[in-house]
Amino acid sequence: MKTEGLSINLATVRQQWKLPEAVAACAKLGIPYVDPWRDQVAAVGLDTAAKAIRDNGLKVSGYCRGGMFPAADAAGRQAAIDDNKRALDEAAALGAECLVLVVGGLPAGTRDIGAARQMVQDGLAAILPHARAVGVPLAIEPLHPMYAGDRACVNTLKQALDMAGQLGDDVGVAIDVYHVWWDPEIETQIARAGREKRILGYHICDWLVPTKDLLLDRGMPGDGVIDLPRFRKLIEAAGYQGPTEIEIFSAQDWWTRPGEEVLKTCIERYSATFA
Ligand code: ZN
Repeated sequence: MKTEGLSINLATVRQQWKLPEAVAACAKLGIPYVDPWRDQVAAVGLDTAAKAIRDNGLKVSGYCRGGMFPAADAAGRQAAIDDNKRALDEAAALGAECLVLVVGGLPAGTRDIGAARQMVQDGLAAILPHARAVGVPLAIEPLHPMYAGDRACVNTLKQALDMAGQLGDDVGVAIDVYHVWWDPEIETQIARAGREKRILGYHICDWLVPTKDLLLDRGMPGDGVIDLPRFRKLIEAAGYQGPTEIEIFSAQDWWTRPGEEVLKTCIERYSATFA
């Protein structure tokens, strides 16, 4: 079984364990990286979380998540910027390799997606100096367009790369196959992301058919319709050598199973897909 290069996004076992137990379980199985969520860190306190990760010798492939920039008024947008700066401070304390950004959708009561996208661009520009100061790059994660209304109005890799390009260094992308597998331009855009040296994260799970829940029915790699070996080749060809992060939200299935079974299945599928 292969664990080298594997990261577990801790949302994958969020119902089974608190952060210290989750990272200890990952370390015990030889998994080298984790990606914690802010609420998981807040639940035990930043110092306890950082110590648990350090004591178990784990690396942090990313920190989930910042973003959510659009808001109905200037005060709301400023509050989002301030909150993202706190997220960057936490990411730095945890030693995270990037801050993963779910950029936000439409402010309540609005229909102007172009304006929302501009708010995202402005929000990114506003936090970038802080990201540079604390040494944590920004990873824009394009989300599947079904989330454009409420979670992320950045929906393709091309769009994320265009935004990053306007901002300069220390901004990149998190490529989550769940969100971009359907994109007819994906080959071209992954190659471009590699050329522009902007791949900061690589997240995998699988797309189940039918998907029963818009948010909480992600599949274990190998159980759905995403051609993961092909993605792997594209990512490798683009020069990415960082970790592969398994990230599964699964209210009815994987979240109901024992955490150790989930982690062992992640390792099996990772080994099978990337052998
Ligand atoms: Zn992701």
